[in-house]
Amino acid sequence: MPLTARLPLHRLFLARRPAIFINHARVAWSIFGRPCSCTATLSAEHGDATKSAVAKSLETTDSGIPQPTADHRDLAVKQDLFTTSAYSPGSPLFLPNGADMLNKLSACLRAQYPQFGFREVISPNIYKKSLWEKSGHWDKYAKDMFEVRGRGATGEKADAEIGENEAFGLKPMNCPGHCLLFASETRSYRDLPIRYADFSSLHRNEISGALSGLTRVRRFHQDDGHIFCRPSQIEDEIKQTMAFIDLVYRKIFHLGLYRLVLSTRPEDYIGEISEWESAEEQLKAALDHSGLDWKLNEGDGAFYGPKIDIILKDSDGKEHQTATIQLDFQLPQRFKLTYDEESGSETPVMIHRAVLGSLERFLALLIEHYNGCYPFWISPRPLAILSVAQSQDELTAVESARQLLSGMSEKVEIGSFSKAPILRPLIHTDIDTSARSLSKKVREANTKGYNFVAVIGPNDVKENTISLMVSRTRNRPETLDFIDFMKQRYNLPESQGNLKLTARQTRQIFEHLQDNYL
Ligand SMILES: [Zn+2]
Repeated sequence: MPLTARLPLHRLFLARRPAIFINHARVAWSIFGRPCSCTATLSAEHGDATKSAVAKSLETTDSGIPQPTADHRDLAVKQDLFTTSAYSPGSPLFLPNGADMLNKLSACLRAQYPQFGFREVISPNIYKKSLWEKSGHWDKYAKDMFEVRGRGATGEKADAEIGENEAFGLKPMNCPGHCLLFASETRSYRDLPIRYADFSSLHRNEISGALSGLTRVRRFHQDDGHIFCRPSQIEDEIKQTMAFIDLVYRKIFHLGLYRLVLSTRPEDYIGEISEWESAEEQLKAALDHSGLDWKLNEGDGAFYGPKIDIILKDSDGKEHQTATIQLDFQLPQRFKLTYDEESGSETPVMIHRAVLGSLERFLALLIEHYNGCYPFWISPRPLAILSVAQSQDELTAVESARQLLSGMSEKVEIGSFSKAPILRPLIHTDIDTSARSLSKKVREANTKGYNFVAVIGPNDVKENTISLMVSRTRNRPETLDFIDFMKQRYNLPESQGNLKLTARQTRQIFEHLQDNYL
């Protein structure tokens, strides 16, 4: 068992956070600091070249015990999260545990979208060269893009017309595709804002020497979003986006305090000064409204629009840039996007935004932030059920508990091939009914890092109960509080530190944890 596993979680957080953020200073920057705008640098600042060296260093915690610094690549091996292959450098191959976590990240964002007015879209991975020429990528960033050639698209014919023998590019970002979606219908001012979200895979041809883990990759997914709005709607959209970021960072991932920086019109701007001034005023109003500390970074905006950077503050007061909200006056013009105003045809403003940024990079941050001890809802190993022995009664009780606790219907007979519909996400549950001693099985489950271990023995079969071992180091303080509450409410007995409760009571705890991102 690692030393850290014996620290209570709240101390673990206190102890580890500074080092985690030091370790992640540039990683976090890279996760969020890669704006999805078409005119943004594709091969933006990448992770930390000295990371592995840092990872090997030791820090001293408040316990005075030197602790190895978390490295998501090491933890990923221990927890079977992902692997890599020389056959596709920079494109992680996610094992079921890692895929489970990545899917939970996108599901968590997806669940929030309706209340922020986003509709999810699905867009192509490859587009013809002419689209990338229109967006400006082919001129500036072709070397960072993968070219795709297929039958009838060799790209060999000079001066080919659109649709004629063109090369294709594998998309590094979603913005041009979303412009095509906006342009696919006639838009009125009454339709705006239109907010598209997209979890497409994206590819960027990073140099092979820089590839590492989940932080420097060629293939990744973003929780990408684009808002098309009237210039007068900018303030409300920015307020909404900041509320979204606040919800996700603070209430779901408990990532701590952050502040905001507004970067304004640079010297080489495009567009009208009045347009910039109005946009900047609205951004300032939205920032004031947030109640958070913000500062002005004058003249540091992109030439196509002002932006807000979100800076995370760790418990030591150290700061790290995370998400960026980017206004764009240019891309709608390049794509000749219009909507009908009462006074005539107008060009919408485009806002690029990603709350988590690259899901792979964000996952790397979480793995290290939690040091492999995840909240139940996102844990790759939330629950193991162990049998004490191998009597038929126990084996049946274990299987029955697995179905009920993971969230399958109780009505389906065990072993039956027919299944009932599933109503909410299942909790992945491992079982161990091997002939080994219980102490060995418990030890192995602890090493693997399950949030909960349920044991079923002969007495449990008789009494229709479960002995639930609650890891105090692998669950959040709010989780432990809720379990204490359940203990009092149902007057649950304890035996050798394990809770005795029914499968239904256990399921009630799990549903509460899932529903509250604990
Ligand atoms: Zn974008």
